[in-house]
Amino acid sequence: MHRFCLNCGHPVKEHYCPNCGQSAEVGRLSWKGFVEEFFHTLTHAEKSIFGTTWQLIRRPGIILDEYIAGKRKKYMSPVAFFLVWVALSILTHRSILAFSGFHPVIMEGITFRNPESIRAFIIHGEWLYILTFPVSAALFYIILARPAYTYIECLVITMYAFSVVYVFHILCYLVGGGLFSLNVLHWKFYSFQILLSLAYTIWTCIDFFRHKKVRWIAWRLPLYIILNTVVVLRFLEFLSNTWVRLEHAFP
Ligand SMILES: [Zn+2]
Repeated sequence: MHRFCLNCGHPVKEHYCPNCGQSAEVGRLSWKGFVEEFFHTLTHAEKSIFGTTWQLIRRPGIILDEYIAGKRKKYMSPVAFFLVWVALSILTHRSILAFSGFHPVIMEGITFRNPESIRAFIIHGEWLYILTFPVSAALFYIILARPAYTYIECLVITMYAFSVVYVFHILCYLVGGGLFSLNVLHWKFYSFQILLSLAYTIWTCIDFFRHKKVRWIAWRLPLYIILNTVVVLRFLEFLSNTWVRLEHAFP
């Protein structure tokens, strides 16, 4: 055992550093420690990526309440959580496209006016979608959470919820595209993903607000769901149009 913490230099008398929490039994990096760390990060209780994901699907209200109230070490941090799932989602989407050679099947006029924008969205949507989450958080704040919650708290709530939507996207790509060879660029596939994320958003809101006294919740919740869907889709159309314009400007 060391008398000083190897992480922060604080004097250590117990098994863990009283200043930063690092174990006093840390030695040279070893294969055994590396493998243990690897599986620990993936699997250990709620804090792991799978544990946090499962909690967010099963009872999103509990984890959001606890994280906002201050249980920051119990779950995976929203930023890391978000980045991992976004990266995996883009990777899965790209891999499925590379292996299958799907072509977009679009239904012109169903959402976007410009067919070129639909094409841009179908291919690049997975990361254009990232830009919509601060907008979604603003609507959540204005319509549902204010004044009990701040905007930054709403941003964290939305970040966790968006991450789970990315998990559903990954499952859709793997099961739909990988296992059943469905065209992941078909507008029907995309519509199914929208319905799935809509269902999860509704479930998160219901579970989060169920024991809180919010006036007119029966009206504000549907208002948020409808407005959020419309605004996010319009914003995605704007982003896709901008993408097409940039492609024309810098071919
Ligand atoms: Zn320390």
